[in-house]
Amino acid sequence: MAFWTNKRVVVTGGAGFLGSFVVDKLRTAGAQVFVPRKRDFNFVHLSDAQRCFQEQKPEVVIHAAAYYGGIWINQVHPGKIYFENLIMGANVIEAARLANVQKFVGIGTACSYPGYLEGELKEENLWDGPLHDSVRNYGLTKKMMAVQCWAYRKQYDFNGIHLILTNLYGPGDSYNPERSHVAAALVRKFVEGKLQNSPTVEVWGTGKPIREFLYVEDCAEAIVRAAEKYDDVTPLNIGTGVGTSIKELAETTMSATGYEGEIVWNSDKPDGQFKKILDVSRMAEALDWQAPTDLHSGLVRTVQWYLQNKEEADKKW
Ligand code: GDP
Repeated sequence: MAFWTNKRVVVTGGAGFLGSFVVDKLRTAGAQVFVPRKRDFNFVHLSDAQRCFQEQKPEVVIHAAAYYGGIWINQVHPGKIYFENLIMGANVIEAARLANVQKFVGIGTACSYPGYLEGELKEENLWDGPLHDSVRNYGLTKKMMAVQCWAYRKQYDFNGIHLILTNLYGPGDSYNPERSHVAAALVRKFVEGKLQNSPTVEVWGTGKPIREFLYVEDCAEAIVRAAEKYDDVTPLNIGTGVGTSIKELAETTMSATGYEGEIVWNSDKPDGQFKKILDVSRMAEALDWQAPTDLHSGLVRTVQWYLQNKEEADKKW
């Protein structure tokens, strides 16, 4: 990929779950990647974002830093999630504009879609209704990055794109039960159920909600492709387009871990949005790509990684 050879890139959140996969792909493609660390550059302060880009002079900025997590952390830290993501997004885009960055890539979320739409979520329906209560604090902040890119394109000719990511899973995720998304949570629960020979494992909700699960390395590939090829102001969905119920996810994770006990459904815990599946037809065309990893293979790889890195993975927030 000649496009990336010696390209100067800053990846915020580049030491995190998704960001580290993006950084690996960019470095393999020949880019010069800088990963700002929070102790040196805290993007909640505009001056830190400006200093970072003045020092690094990036041609491309990929904003993958976020304070995020699954359904539970949105119930217990909704304010921190709101403030940090909103301010970081606004600051990083403003600093990228001031530094004349050639391309800005905002990492968004499927939580930005209206929470009560029927069918698969299409980019043209992004503004068609209210967000689901369980994630509105997170989804709206990310959506504001798309608004900022739209406004900056109009006023300053700023080349910012916005990618809408579905639920991710894979090595390096948060496996902390308070923070994790469902796939990582179930990997941990079923691995521990098997190691401890537990007769039952608790899974939240009713099992009926439907989600889409994208393997983190596939997502990183899509981001790198979009950073190179996609220049449209309309946000772009990034996913598999495949819906899986939480019950099916639990069964697939049981099979990937070899756990043979029973599932106990805890319906005191929230189900969240009923259905979240992205329509990925624009993605397939724009990136000439679709996600290669099916859920079972991705979970098997994730379980292998988790077993080999359990102690360290469990310590991560
Ligand atoms: P969401 O996609 O924003 O709703 O976030 P999650 O990935 O956290 O949750 C997805 C669905 O999985 C919800 O219906 C949860 O109730 C369900 N779920 C089942 N067991 C768990 C669990 O142990 N942890 C989490 N986070 N979700 C779970």
